[in-house]
Amino acid sequence: MSEAEERHSAGDGISPFTPEELINKLAIPAFAINAEHLITHWNLALARASGLPAEQMIGTRNQWMPFYSHQRPTLADLIVDHAPPDMLDKHYPGKYQPSDLIEGAYVAEDFFPDIGKGGEWLSFTAAPLLDGEQQIVGAIETLVVITERKSAEQELRKNESRYRQLSQIDDLTQLFNARQLRREINRQIKLCKRYDQPMALVMLDLDHFKEVNDSWGHLFGDEVLKRFASIIRHNLRASDDGFRYGGEEFIILMPFIDEQAALRAAKRIHQAFCDTRFKTADGSELRLTLSGGVTRLCPDDDYDRLLRRADATLYEAKRGGRNRILLSKDSQAGYPEPPQL
Ligand code: GH3
Ligand code: MG
Ligand code: MG
Repeated sequence: MSEAEERHSAGDGISPFTPEELINKLAIPAFAINAEHLITHWNLALARASGLPAEQMIGTRNQWMPFYSHQRPTLADLIVDHAPPDMLDKHYPGKYQPSDLIEGAYVAEDFFPDIGKGGEWLSFTAAPLLDGEQQIVGAIETLVVITERKSAEQELRKNESRYRQLSQIDDLTQLFNARQLRREINRQIKLCKRYDQPMALVMLDLDHFKEVNDSWGHLFGDEVLKRFASIIRHNLRASDDGFRYGGEEFIILMPFIDEQAALRAAKRIHQAFCDTRFKTADGSELRLTLSGGVTRLCPDDDYDRLLRRADATLYEAKRGGRNRILLSKDSQAGYPEPPQL
């Protein structure tokens, strides 16, 4: 009969196992140290995971060995030293928190570059071992490899940001799509109003684009849209954003500049587009035009009012004969001549 069985049969507790046997049966790697930081327990799971047998470890202060390339405190060592916050922050910056379950215990996650070939992520816990007077006489630490979970989480985050990006970007032109427009305009309206800064909005629409499609095909039309988007991109400042608002309608949001500067930028884009020669299937060169409306953020504006005014100005440009950029009426105060190209 084993020692444990003898104690059990003698009615000495309801478990037939000693604490040593129990910790060895635990499938989670674990070790314990005493108040002098000497290893008292080194369970089988940890011995197998680390390749360091208990006989070699117990009685030493080598608890750092499976985890680090040099001697340094483990979480259990810091707990034996009463978990000084500056030391916790130094050794596990932003990576630990108190346990919800056990008073004085901590849980942490960290990447250990020295483990194995490429390092491992570990989730680990350490709890104080208290005597009858509630004095810390040691600490017990458990460790679980979570590298796979961490990689999956990182992959998920990467995918999420890719999907988010996809949902904001127009496939054909790689400009922001209309869904993003309302969000971004609302954000910039708030910002510019809060800091009392001007903001301008440019709406551009290709002229007679239906005819282009009808004459040269939809794919040709797509190429025109792509080229136009690239002209827009080349003429944006870092703080501007370009959007594909509809089929052949585009919007440029220009925070922190007034409508005159926006008008100049819109005219540059207009000119660049009109100067572009598009090669058609029969080898000839096609030149196209566009029309545009420029407006500024007015004090009472919200998204709808701002867009309505830009749209009305664009409509004026179309009605006036196309191939021109107009400034919206209430942006023209002090400019008697409606600026036209
Ligand atoms: P206007 O000068 O008044 O703007 O005339 P328009 O022909 O450009 O305007 P209309 O709104 O009548 O036609 C727009 C055309 O744009 C119709 C549609 O076939 C085309 N279009 C919309 N989206 C795309 C697209 O993604 N690719 C291509 N190739 N054509 C598109
Ligand atoms: Mg058009
Ligand atoms: Mg249109």
